Amino acid sequence: MLYIVPPAAPDEKEKTRRRIRRMDRPPGMLQCNRCGGRAAATIRAGVTETGHGTLIHKNICAECYKRGLIVPMNVELKPIK
Ligand SMILES: [Zn+2]
Repeated sequence: MLYIVPPAAPDEKEKTRRRIRRMDRPPGMLQCNRCGGRAAATIRAGVTETGHGTLIHKNICAECYKRGLIVPMNVELKPIK
């Protein structure tokens, strides 16, 4: 059986996240649309002292990555797909 559960009211933590996500962004600044974080990470494999290695992820949210999520950062507030 599949039941449709109505969305729960946001708790205080989620309310804070939503407020931060909607704050004005400086032009061109990347920001995570999930958590509102502004720390971007680029992941490369096979990096050496002289080489750049292979690009795995570019401009993903560092805070979400610490939690095991790959969230691309955007300049505008857009829904996450
Ligand atoms: Zn994030």
